[in-house]
Amino acid sequence: MEMEPVFLHIGIDDTDSPRGGCTTYIGALLVERLSKLGLKFIDYPNLVRLNPNVPWKTRGNGAVSLRIFGSQEAIEKAKEVIITVVEEESDFDWNGTDPGLVFIYGELPQELTSFSNRAIQSLVTMKEAIDLIKHFGGEAIGYKRGRGIIGALAAIGERLQGDHTYELIAYRKKENRDLPRGVDEDSARTMDRETYPETFNNLDPETGRILVTPRGPDPVLYGIRGESPEVVYRAHGMVKVYEEIERWVIFRTNHGTDSHLRPTMGLSLAKPYMPIIAMGRVLRAPRRIEGGHVLFSITDGIRSINCAAYEPTGDFRRIVEKLIEGDLVEIYGGVRPASRNYPITINLEKLRILKLAPKYSLENPLCPSCGKRMKSMGKEKGFRCDACGFKDREAKKIVKEVARDITEGLYIPPPRCHRHLTKPLVRYGREKLNPWSLTQEPSCLRLFTPWHEP
Ligand SMILES: [Zn+2]
Repeated sequence: MEMEPVFLHIGIDDTDSPRGGCTTYIGALLVERLSKLGLKFIDYPNLVRLNPNVPWKTRGNGAVSLRIFGSQEAIEKAKEVIITVVEEESDFDWNGTDPGLVFIYGELPQELTSFSNRAIQSLVTMKEAIDLIKHFGGEAIGYKRGRGIIGALAAIGERLQGDHTYELIAYRKKENRDLPRGVDEDSARTMDRETYPETFNNLDPETGRILVTPRGPDPVLYGIRGESPEVVYRAHGMVKVYEEIERWVIFRTNHGTDSHLRPTMGLSLAKPYMPIIAMGRVLRAPRRIEGGHVLFSITDGIRSINCAAYEPTGDFRRIVEKLIEGDLVEIYGGVRPASRNYPITINLEKLRILKLAPKYSLENPLCPSCGKRMKSMGKEKGFRCDACGFKDREAKKIVKEVARDITEGLYIPPPRCHRHLTKPLVRYGREKLNPWSLTQEPSCLRLFTPWHEP
């Protein structure tokens, strides 16, 4: 008698540290090992970015989930392999790296999806995670403080049923990881020209910088983001490299989807660490402070709050600086808690100018006798003409409306300072539907081949 296959969702988080490692690399290793065990994948590995504003995040606050099925025996073997790989590859000596591994069986309950939404849009606790895992008969392994269990469970619960994107990540061999990345920049530019806008954020247009190669000591050689598995695979074939690629995998992700940002009904609901979308009028015009940051404040009539466009947002600040009191804006960003020097502040990720306020200038009146511009004789003392001597003690400044040098619309900082989750301008109108709703079999996506190597 044939046994029913077992479905297993695997979540992994917080295995890396600023000095190396990468949770996606563990995911990529497991893709190879689990495939060799004969297990089938029901989805691409999911790379899920959680709330980027949480205070304890590792670099990108990204967690990984793998969804597989196979015989009971193969699943048991898979779990052993997963635990071994996580233990071998995690940076346990780094203070603040607290790896977590979660297993959930079968169909995913709705409660896990809502847990994931909260992990992406606000804050969740370890207790909530543990209670859910217990309730649904899952298993969790936490190393050290085990904080990674939260992200691991969130990665499982996020089925990417709304908008989503793909990222093909190519990894370096261990012996090359201290060396500069051997990626031909011209080929990356060509790849961008040929595949944009189906791929995105390959380059930073403001600086010309290549963004597919990360900076840090992690094992990633490059990552190409795009709208489909086909296009990231094609783009991958166009990038020339001078070092051996150890492996590559296509992930399905929430990158570039804005899934962290949630419309907030009123600024009173802006709580520390939450990514929000809120509307208000400019209360205090922008000013540039030391360090190049631009600060202003907005109000919704009930509460006023400070907003900041920080120095790394580049030319975006020039737009922000053109706002004046009274402009109606929609702001997108993470709420920073108050610090010693600054009150609670929204760190701007995007700005939509909804309605520009009229801007006025005050001019001295023209001389009715000779037509030259008159001069003030002091506050409320009228005006005098230097050319012909005409005086008018009742004359007042003339109020004149001047044209604004910005237009209403959506403004986004350059890609080099985007959060992973920030939806770039080019993706507006390209949002995708739930791929699960298009599948024939209810539980398994049809995967593009090849989606990994080896
Ligand atoms: Zn005159």
